[in-house]
Amino acid sequence: MSHVRIDGLTKRFAGKPPAVAVDNLSLEIEPGEFIVLLGPSGCGKTTTLRCLAGLETPDEGRISLGDRTVLDLREKVDLPPNKRNIGMVFQSYALWPHMTVRRNIGYPLRTRRVPREEARVRIEEAALLVDCAALLDRYPAQLSGGQQQRVALARGLAARPDLVLFDEPLSNLDARLRDQVRAQLHELHARLGFTAVFVTHDQSEALALGDRLAIMKAGRIEQLDTPERVFEEPATEYVAGFIGMSNRIALRRAGEGWTVADGAAVTGDLPVPRAHAEVAVRLRPDDLLLRPAEEEPPAQGVGLAAEVVDAQFGGRHMDVVVTIADSRLHARAPLTGAPWARKLARGQRVTAWFAKDTAL
Ligand code: ADP
Ligand code: MG
Repeated sequence: MSHVRIDGLTKRFAGKPPAVAVDNLSLEIEPGEFIVLLGPSGCGKTTTLRCLAGLETPDEGRISLGDRTVLDLREKVDLPPNKRNIGMVFQSYALWPHMTVRRNIGYPLRTRRVPREEARVRIEEAALLVDCAALLDRYPAQLSGGQQQRVALARGLAARPDLVLFDEPLSNLDARLRDQVRAQLHELHARLGFTAVFVTHDQSEALALGDRLAIMKAGRIEQLDTPERVFEEPATEYVAGFIGMSNRIALRRAGEGWTVADGAAVTGDLPVPRAHAEVAVRLRPDDLLLRPAEEEPPAQGVGLAAEVVDAQFGGRHMDVVVTIADSRLHARAPLTGAPWARKLARGQRVTAWFAKDTAL
């Protein structure tokens, strides 16, 4: 386990115009910490990992693992991958098809010249960790996707690396397996305490696994915080949108109250300083609730007139798309105690509301 330090990492790719894939990125990672890089496709997550692993040479920057400097371009230090003691697990599993599971897991041990007998013990340990001990003599083609990804996980951990890098390792698995392997990975990390950088574009994966999340945008870190704080207090509109606050409602002051864009009145007041004439409220679908049109919102709620565009059955709730003054918004109507919501249909008028304290 090592303290990891990344300073001013920059990687440009030639082209017209040149692309800055990673833009002066700095990050310190505590020993044993599980950091998640979360962001949309193309924001520089994979390039950051490849620079950490030594698979890509950045244009600028410094990287240290514990007291070892693995990259410092000013000092002309750029250690190759096999000298960095970093484990990697990829989306595509990347197992060698012509090698057995045993040889695949042992691969990083061979490149590090771990003696044979010790390698044998470590391979078996790593296979046990991910429930693959019975598969050691099979070839990758004889394994399911979930088993292949567990073998890739064992290979990433077998050399007891200072740092383990994960590039969307769960995204090729079907939904049920993804949940299983995710839970297994979470438990493994709690048990072994390895230091990790895990890349994903999936917010629920990030919230579940990360000790801290780095939300990335265009090669930079937009917010670095615990999952709780990113979820409850996104620092910017970009982070709010990315973390599921998909609804944005613009409100304007009108006398003592508020109106929406088309002038329709809003029921209830907002805890906003008097000086603000306008406010944009960001809400998650679960925080925008529905009532029959003739009902007022509850006392602590802010109510808006809405029209249903589409309503889908979601088990214990309905997922509903509504329009409020030309904006399409996503709402969720719980069915427990509110069977009327099962009959929501296109064109129906409803009251949409949110609690004052859920508004940003
Ligand atoms: P992510 O993993 O977040 O989807 P990447 O790190 O793969 O993002 O890519 C970041 C940016 O760098 C993108 O604009 C991508 O097109 C560009 N890029 C990545 N690899 C290369 C490459 N080998 N050559 C040119 N451009 C690249
Ligand atoms: Mg990527």
